[in-house]
Amino acid sequence: MTTIRDFDEKCPVCEKTSPQQVMMSTSTWGYPDLDLRPAEMKRSSMFAWLNECPHCGYISGNFENEPCITKDFLKSEKYLTCDGIEFSSKLSAKFFKAYLIANEEKDTQKCFFNLLHCAWTCDDAGDSNAVKIRKMALDHFDYLEYGDGEKKDYLAMKADILRRSGQFDRLTSEFSDVVIGEEPYDTIIGFQIQKAIERDTGCYTVGDAIGK
Ligand SMILES: [Zn+2]
Repeated sequence: MTTIRDFDEKCPVCEKTSPQQVMMSTSTWGYPDLDLRPAEMKRSSMFAWLNECPHCGYISGNFENEPCITKDFLKSEKYLTCDGIEFSSKLSAKFFKAYLIANEEKDTQKCFFNLLHCAWTCDDAGDSNAVKIRKMALDHFDYLEYGDGEKKDYLAMKADILRRSGQFDRLTSEFSDVVIGEEPYDTIIGFQIQKAIERDTGCYTVGDAIGK
C-alpha cells in the first residue's frame, strides 16, 4: 500500500512554508509497463512525487535541494503557460513545469524523467500530448548518464518511447541488431519490434511481452 503524509515544507525559492503531501512508502504488485512505469500501488501515487509551492509556483521532487532558478523564471510566460502546451490534467502540467525547471538547470536526467512521467499522466488523462512529450523525452536520451548495469533498462525505455510515439521505422532500424544477452530484455525487444511492425502504439506490460 501507499502511505502519504502531509508535512509543512519550506520552499527553497521563496522561503514560504506550505503543506505538502509526502510519500512515506509504497509498493508494487505485478509487472511494470515496457517503459518501466511501475504497477499499482506506486502507479497511482504520482500526485505525491513532486512538491509544488502555492506561493511562487516552484516545483521539485525535494524541497531540500538547492535550486538554480530565479523567481523571475517562475513568473515567466513560458513557465506559467507550460510553453504553450495545453494539458488535460494539472498533474501533467506539474511534471512539465518540473521539466522546464530541470531544462533551465541543465539537468538532463531530470529533464528526461520529468517528461516521461508527464507522458504517463497524459496517458492516464487520455491527452494526445503524450506523443509530443515522449518525442521531447527522446531528445534528451543520448545525453543521459547511466552505468553499464543500467543500460538494458534505458534501452528498454527507449524502445517503448519510440513505439508509443509512433516512430516504428526508427525502432526497427535501431533495435533489430540489439542483443542484450539477458532475459527478459531480449524477449522485450523482440516484442517491441513485432508491435512496431504491426504499427501498434498500445500500452503493454513486461508480463504481456513474456507471455504471462
Ligand atoms: Zn515558493
